[in-house]
Amino acid sequence: MKESREFKTESKRLLHLMINSIYTNKEIFLRELISNASDAIDKYHFTSLTDESLEKTNDYEITLEFDKKKRWIKITDNGIGMTYNELLDNLGTIAKSGTLEFLQNIKGKDVGEADLIGQFGVGFYSAFMVASKVEVRTKSPYSEAAYLWTSAGEESFTIEEIKKAERGTEVKIFLRDNEEEEKYDEYLDEYKIESLVKKYSDYVKYPITLEKEVQTPKLDKEGKEIEGKYTTSLQKETINSQIPIWNKNKSEVSETELNEFYKSQYFDYTDPIARIWTDVEGALTYKAIVFIPGKAPYNLYSEKYEKGLQLYTKGVFIMDKCKELVPDYLRFIKGLVVSSDLSLNISREILQHNRQLQKISQNLEKKIVNELEKMLKNDKESYIKFYKEFGVNLKYGVYDGFGEKKDLLKDLLLFKTVNNEEYMTLKEYVEAMPEGQNAIYYGSASSKEAIQGMPQMDLLKKKGYDVLVFTDEIDEFMVNILREYEKHSFKSINQGDLDLLDDSEKEHIKEQSIESKDVLEALQSILASEVKEVKLSTRLTDSPVCLVSGDGLSFEMEKVMSQMPGEKSAKADKILEINPNHELFKAIKSLHQTNSSELEDYAWVLYNQALLIEGMSIKDPVDFSNKMIKLLVKSLR
Ligand code: ADP
Repeated sequence: MKESREFKTESKRLLHLMINSIYTNKEIFLRELISNASDAIDKYHFTSLTDESLEKTNDYEITLEFDKKKRWIKITDNGIGMTYNELLDNLGTIAKSGTLEFLQNIKGKDVGEADLIGQFGVGFYSAFMVASKVEVRTKSPYSEAAYLWTSAGEESFTIEEIKKAERGTEVKIFLRDNEEEEKYDEYLDEYKIESLVKKYSDYVKYPITLEKEVQTPKLDKEGKEIEGKYTTSLQKETINSQIPIWNKNKSEVSETELNEFYKSQYFDYTDPIARIWTDVEGALTYKAIVFIPGKAPYNLYSEKYEKGLQLYTKGVFIMDKCKELVPDYLRFIKGLVVSSDLSLNISREILQHNRQLQKISQNLEKKIVNELEKMLKNDKESYIKFYKEFGVNLKYGVYDGFGEKKDLLKDLLLFKTVNNEEYMTLKEYVEAMPEGQNAIYYGSASSKEAIQGMPQMDLLKKKGYDVLVFTDEIDEFMVNILREYEKHSFKSINQGDLDLLDDSEKEHIKEQSIESKDVLEALQSILASEVKEVKLSTRLTDSPVCLVSGDGLSFEMEKVMSQMPGEKSAKADKILEINPNHELFKAIKSLHQTNSSELEDYAWVLYNQALLIEGMSIKDPVDFSNKMIKLLVKSLR
């Protein structure tokens, strides 16, 4: 009986995207299908070790065949195959969990289709990039019956029972033959197929054989060759070397080969930005191949993301994501560790406390940090690319564990600054500080422009001091842990005392404050429910007011913490600073002397304006607007 089914909606959308993809690397379909075949053999092998009912064998093989006239390519394996239900589950839904969420997230953002495909390793379905129809014949050792799955992509697929005695799966893809489309004839070629296998699948540990046409001279009755006459026969030839990449000599493996290995092994379609290969021999012997991806995977910051490196011991694959090998702040690295010093049946519990593993992890961490330092020094452009993708992880690294890694990482940090277009390191910032500047200034806002426009920048601008632009939530928390860089402390432009004035200027402000004591106190008592203090500013030169926070919690930290689940809403102290030299303050002072009741309105308008400048919301916008109108009407009359 033949059964027809529709793909799930989510799958349809993804399939459509892929089939109509402008993605240039369509050739990867072969690699994907070979990987699946190899995985299926792995599965059979491992299951047969424990399941008595399965035949033990070592005759594993992946076979490639093609037919030029009928325009198909066939990939056959003798792996685990699929039962009816597995076939339905595995080839009926493309989209893995999270796909829809992801699609919605990137909607409207500038993400190339290649990236989309790359992020998912959509495996099997990549066949539809070149095929108009795909047939899968499969038999599981756990099922009496065998099945044929057929689909032309996009909409639906069918499943029917067939006769097939041997276990395993055969995937037959019919290349598109629509005259108007690209026909992909190049894949119906021995040399092409062989070169693709060499390029992408050379290290697959099972033999991949290709049926090649061989011509042998025809023989006459006496067994002599007849000139010019040949018989054509098909001969199988193994075309992959089957040597795992880590068993090769480091010097023999090219960068391109490593990149291809990375992409096929870790489902990425972008080259890694760095490759680190270490061979360590001695008390602890191991080999590690680690990659820094070129792009952050879409789910790097979600809870579902699992960090870790693959772990092999004595040539046997132990686990896929050994998280003990990777500190949190390097969670984005991919790669593998091969060590024969570890016990074969090492369990997850033991792993956590394994000294050897800890040692490897520490060494790797140093190596990677080293590599990043080198990149920053020798190839800043690449480093900036890296930093844009992963920099925020380094900031978490500084912050984490009460700053135990801060000295290791502080020179890897980059910042945008108000005066510069380029990213700067802290060292570069400090070296560029003008005479007289002691502190490292920073401002938190959504952009550089927002900081440039802040009244708090008045005096800093006049002095020509540069300001680090903080846009990540973690920035202020990190700086609180760092405290200083080369003896220069960090100072927020919107917090505490900036220490920008010389002694005589300070003295002058003090005098002004004493003289204005009454009006400041009056303002403070009006605004007592909102601000902790009203005082004369030492940082304003042109703007009339600004709002700053006290020395403890900053506004930015208050914002971040209020979003954290379970955090009590801690509040930053608000201080309203008034520019003593501004016309407005002079006017307010004389208003105060006349004992006017209008002072109250002015106080609230000033405070609310300071809130707006700071990018915070006003508690009672209607009241604010009414007061403004009242004052406007009065001034216009
Ligand atoms: P992935 O390989 O990333 O899981 P695929 O879309 O390539 O995703 O394949 C989906 C599933 O179909 C696989 O996880 C596997 O269970 C099954 N599958 C694919 N090819 C084969 C095969 N040759 N033999 C057995 N099962 C297969």
